Amino acid sequence: MIVNCREIRTGRQRSGILPIIALLMLSMATGCSQSNPNQGTQGTTSEQSPQAQEAASTPQAQSGKTKVVATFLPIYLFTKAVAGDVADVEILVPPGTEVHEYQATPGNVKVIATAKVLVKNGLGLEEFLEGTVKNAQNPKLTEIDASKGIKPLNEISPIVKMTTDEKGHEHSQGNPHVWLDPVLAKQQVTNIRDGLIAADPANKATYEANATAYIKELESLNSEFQQTLQKNPSCTFITFHDAFPYLAKRYNLKQVAVVQIPEDQLSPTDVQNAVSAVKKYKVKALFSEPGVDNKLLTSLSKDLKITLRTLDSLETGETDPQHYFKAMKANLQTLETSCK
Ligand SMILES: [Zn+2]
Repeated sequence: MIVNCREIRTGRQRSGILPIIALLMLSMATGCSQSNPNQGTQGTTSEQSPQAQEAASTPQAQSGKTKVVATFLPIYLFTKAVAGDVADVEILVPPGTEVHEYQATPGNVKVIATAKVLVKNGLGLEEFLEGTVKNAQNPKLTEIDASKGIKPLNEISPIVKMTTDEKGHEHSQGNPHVWLDPVLAKQQVTNIRDGLIAADPANKATYEANATAYIKELESLNSEFQQTLQKNPSCTFITFHDAFPYLAKRYNLKQVAVVQIPEDQLSPTDVQNAVSAVKKYKVKALFSEPGVDNKLLTSLSKDLKITLRTLDSLETGETDPQHYFKAMKANLQTLETSCK
C-alpha cells in the first residue's frame, strides 16, 4: 500500500479513527498541506479578473504575454523560474490549500479557459484537473506534464501495520512527490522549458537561459545534499506524509512512514508498537511539517525519545522561485542535524 497525506487529514477531521502506523523503508510520509498564513498570493490575483471569462478564446493575458497556469506551489515555482518576465504565470491551488484533495473552484475553470498553457506535476497528483480542464472547454490549451519521463516509485517495503483499520489511499500512478529530489526537479524544469518553448517559440531564448540558470542551482543543491548526507548513510527517519521517497532514495536515507494519526491519542498498544518499530529500524528522526502543530506528534516524540522536527514538502510556502532552494536547504540542515 502507498500512503499519502490523506491519512493524516482524515485523522484530523474525524474522531475515533484508529491509528495506522506503517513502516515503510525508502518511503516516508509527512503532512500534506497545513494552512500557512504567511503564504504569498501573487499567483492568484487574476483569478477573479472579469475579463478572464470573456477572453476565453484568447490565450493571451491582458499584457499580451502568454498566459500560463501552474497547478500548485512547486510546479508554480519551476514554471515561474523558467518563464521569468516573458509569460504570465498563475497558480491554481493557492499555497496553504491541500493539493492532494483539492476541489477545483469556478475561478479555476475560468483561469484555465483563458490560458494557453497548463503545467501540472502529473503522476496522478492533480486529480481535480480532469473535470476542470474539460469544463474549461479551451481547445487552444497546451498541457505540460512536468513528470514526463520520470519513472515513479510504486512499491514501498517493508510495511509493518500497527493496526488493521486501513483506509489507505493509493496513488494509481505511483508516488507523485518527485519535486523533492533535486535531480528529478531538474527533469521537471527541463520538461517545463521544452513545453513553454513549444507553446511560445518566440521566447525560446529566454526560456532556455532561465532554465539553464535554475538547473545550475539545482545541480549545486544536489551536490550539497550529496556531500552533507554521505556522512550519515542510511539514516532512518519517520514522517507522516508520504512525500520523501525520492529524496530518500537519492541520498541513501531510509524512511518509515506513519500512516494515520488519530485525532485524540494513541492507544498504549499503538505507542508500544511504534516504539518497538523505532528500535527495530534504528530511527533517528521524527518529522512533522512546517505549520503543523499536532500535540499527538509531540507526545509520540516524547514517548519515542526522538526530537520532533519539521521537514518541508513544499506543497505550501512562498511563491518566489528561490523559495525552493531556501526550503530545501532548510530540509538539508534538518536532515543533517537529525542524522548525526
Ligand atoms: Zn503530498
